[in-house]
Amino acid sequence: MKKKVLSAILSIAMVATLLVGCGAKEEAAAPAATTEAPAAEAEAEAPAAEEAAPAAEANGKKVGVAMPTQSSERWINDGNNMKKQLEALGYEVDLQYAEDDVQAQVSQIENMIASGVNCLVIASIDSTALVNVEKQAQQAGIPVIAYDRLLMDTDAVSYYATFDNKGVGTAIGKYIVDNAGLDPANPQTIELFMGSPDDNNAHMLYAGLMEQIQPYLDNGALVCKSGQLDFDANCTLRWDQQTAMKRCEDILTGFYGDEELDIVATAYDGLAYGCRSALEGAGYTDANWPLITGQDAELMATKNIIAGKQTMSIAKDTRVLAEKCVTMVQAVLEGAEPEINDTTTYNNNVIVVPSYLCTPVAVDVNNYKEVLVDTGYYTEEQLAE
Ligand code: BGC
Repeated sequence: MKKKVLSAILSIAMVATLLVGCGAKEEAAAPAATTEAPAAEAEAEAPAAEEAAPAAEANGKKVGVAMPTQSSERWINDGNNMKKQLEALGYEVDLQYAEDDVQAQVSQIENMIASGVNCLVIASIDSTALVNVEKQAQQAGIPVIAYDRLLMDTDAVSYYATFDNKGVGTAIGKYIVDNAGLDPANPQTIELFMGSPDDNNAHMLYAGLMEQIQPYLDNGALVCKSGQLDFDANCTLRWDQQTAMKRCEDILTGFYGDEELDIVATAYDGLAYGCRSALEGAGYTDANWPLITGQDAELMATKNIIAGKQTMSIAKDTRVLAEKCVTMVQAVLEGAEPEINDTTTYNNNVIVVPSYLCTPVAVDVNNYKEVLVDTGYYTEEQLAE
């Protein structure tokens, strides 16, 4: 008797599912109702299991998260934070890393589209190389959100979550100006190691940095002996550590035979590691170690800061970035309001993308505890290992 009643309920539910499936794709309330009957039955038999994933039951939407590489700690954190926060809201997450291979990233995104994701979050490797795949997403009605790196040359991007990228360069430049004791009567040498030319962030960082240091290059307080001050001359394809190391070696050999290099302005911790190796190879020691800048405040970079092998970095709280990006996912999928704080800066050559800019913070040996430990980003134990 009980069985018959249950199977009747299930049949009604199945018919309802079919009807709803045919006609009401956009209607948020309807799909939830279709799952109610079987779910209610499951609840009677296994209440605990039902309680464990209520959000997932209610949601059922899938988000594809395409990240550039696992060779840098920050992207691993970004991916993990996005996955964790999206899953907590009941989204299914397909997280993929393309290991800085542009074609691999294109294929990953194509597969995500084919697998029926409802939304795409993309941190690109080459910001102009995804135009076709972004178009495919647009044609399939899949909204795209740019994560940290702006997607260029497309109108198929709804929102952009990032840090104030010019602000990163400004903070690095200001740090040099405030801490290097710049004085035309006692010139100091500087070399620049900037980011990847296919990443809009690298150009913005360079602009912010140059705005700060240009007056000191002009008045002779700073001297760049290689002359490689143009972005084209000092950029580093794919932000690659080995490329920076090799270029630093060449610069030290070619231009610093009888004078020391005082300031190494790098745009990312990985580049700072490369320059550190080159400096050690050229015989630099604690006695003449230069001021070295970086970005991301990676665990290793923070340890290097404590050990005096890197001077500063830029802390970017990837937990906050993920949080802001998740509100954008919710906005495009659930019709919620995302938090936006910039509607003018990020022109990708086709549209100005509504953005949320998180705040980058300069860290050195004096404030790393406050910025990185007190906020729970790292533990003292991690830094001591
Ligand atoms: C990010 C930086 C990062 C760099 C290298 C940039 O797009 O904004 O935080 O250091 O990529 O991964």
